[in-house]
Amino acid sequence: LVDIRDIWHRFGQHPVLKNVSLTIAAGSYTILLGPSGSGKTTLLSILGGFVNPSEGKVLIRGQDCTSVPPAKRPTTTVFQDYALFPHMSVGGNVGFGLRMQGVDGATRAAKARDALALVGLAAAFDKKPHQLSGGQRQRVALARALVIEPAVLLLDEPLGALDLKLRRQMQDELKAIQKRVGTAFIHVTHDQEEAMALADHCVVMNDGRIEDEGPPERVYARPATRFSATFMGEST
Ligand code: ATP
Repeated sequence: LVDIRDIWHRFGQHPVLKNVSLTIAAGSYTILLGPSGSGKTTLLSILGGFVNPSEGKVLIRGQDCTSVPPAKRPTTTVFQDYALFPHMSVGGNVGFGLRMQGVDGATRAAKARDALALVGLAAAFDKKPHQLSGGQRQRVALARALVIEPAVLLLDEPLGALDLKLRRQMQDELKAIQKRVGTAFIHVTHDQEEAMALADHCVVMNDGRIEDEGPPERVYARPATRFSATFMGEST
């Protein structure tokens, strides 16, 4: 579904991605895992179109998307800080992207209801974001991203703002939602437990390179490099 080929990225002289190549299968849950500064967010930003790589290509469904702007890509990004509009109802928030696409009100409302049902929040349609808990707001952000039916959903530390208990609970929710919709999710985290719980495919990054990748159980039990072994064994 997604083919990342020979990506290099430099901020000034400083290379932050060094020849990264990665293939993402349709319907899979991919976790980009690594310590702070390893280049995960930069790689996700390149996938979303927010950063243009210095070198290399991003192909989505066989199409070269390397220079395609974010709004014209078959990707949507969910950021950590939710960025819901506070004055707008939950339904309005979820339908907002469709409004931008010129979709009529009745269709927007129906699709927003479906997307909210998908994340278990059908009853919240007329509420305001401030009436919801952190976990519920995060699910609204997810519904808002899913309503436009992207080929790939990009998540940057989506659970980073939640306390540990809610975080573990939302992990299970996220996995269930991904399996239900079948959209490919690519999720950045520095949390090994989150990776183990969620990933079909776990990509360990270090210093701008992919150290190891594979099913999380394999990466954990039989790491390919010393870094991967040490990092997977550390707790957050
Ligand atoms: P974190 O978990 O802390 O977000 P990360 O693995 O996502 O880390 P990146 O955010 O991709 O890593 O950053 C990789 C490197 O690129 C870091 O050294 C960072 O300081 C640098 N960097 C990121 N964005 C910029 C920018 N806009 N300008 C200059 N340097 C940047």
